[in-house]
Amino acid sequence: MRLAPLRALPALIVALLCASTPTLALAGSPGGLQAPSAARAGGSEYGVPARVSAHGPVVSRLSVPRTASAGRPPRVTLRLEEPGVGTVAVRVTIAEESTQKAVISVPLGWVHTRRTLTVSWPSGAALTPGSYQVSVRAHDHHGGTLLRSAHSSGVASLTVSQPVAAPEPAAPPPPAPASPPEAGVPSPAQSAAAGAVFPVSGAHNFGGPENRFGAPRGAHTHQGQDVLTAEGTPILAPMAGTISWTSYQAGGAGYYAVEHTGVGFDFMFAHCQAGSLAVGNGQAIAAGAQLCSAGQTGDATTPHLHFEMWVGGWQASAGHPIDPLPYLEAWDRLGAS
Ligand SMILES: [Zn+2]
Repeated sequence: MRLAPLRALPALIVALLCASTPTLALAGSPGGLQAPSAARAGGSEYGVPARVSAHGPVVSRLSVPRTASAGRPPRVTLRLEEPGVGTVAVRVTIAEESTQKAVISVPLGWVHTRRTLTVSWPSGAALTPGSYQVSVRAHDHHGGTLLRSAHSSGVASLTVSQPVAAPEPAAPPPPAPASPPEAGVPSPAQSAAAGAVFPVSGAHNFGGPENRFGAPRGAHTHQGQDVLTAEGTPILAPMAGTISWTSYQAGGAGYYAVEHTGVGFDFMFAHCQAGSLAVGNGQAIAAGAQLCSAGQTGDATTPHLHFEMWVGGWQASAGHPIDPLPYLEAWDRLGAS
């Protein structure tokens, strides 16, 4: 056999393929299906017919999902056209995008033109996560190879990702975790029994998940519980103590007060209405004393009390915030009864 010039090699390979019985193949086989990458880049693999005449099959449709899960290759459909030609020989190949190495190559044999075909992948064919190209090769009885049309090149990209893990079998939800009791401070029930006062003296609610202790707030978490209420609602001290700090923070707490108690808690009350702070640093206060009125100063979009409870000192290095909601609920029940 006369040596073919290199740039005609792809066409030659296709021609040889048609003569062979359709077998599955060829990933990695010597002289395999893939044209040299230079040929790909130049487009000769699909675009240049073996003969000078412009006759040859055209892929009028190639339907490949953009993404698929690893495992069985996805459903691929295609349709070929060639005027005046009833059947063409077709091969579909999935190649790694980076290496152009064919991983699955399926001969469809002689198929009818102007019909939508579904590629039937060989049993056991599987794709691992990665980027692939799905390509179609075809030729007719006269050796006319695939022409690349403007709207369908016969090549499509496919991204294969890890399959989504199967959901865990549904387990019965665990009972709502009781907040671990804090050593050295009263429990919610104990503090309620000791006469703690709900700090919002008016209609209120606890909002949604975003208002909870621990809710994400950008780079940090919400260190308190929000109590939504009307602007101007009195904010009261839950327990007797001493005001340890009052201040204004434009980008955060707005007007706020911090109270230190004798039982191990420090409280913080934030977003008070401007001009409503009724207490000063160092001032001793009784349970139920009004501290300020509810507002939305600082970083707040609606009137509410942002309420923090700390054990070991507010913002102290040895201190830490705890979830105020069990306490607030216990005090709220007490006030409602
Ligand atoms: Zn808050």
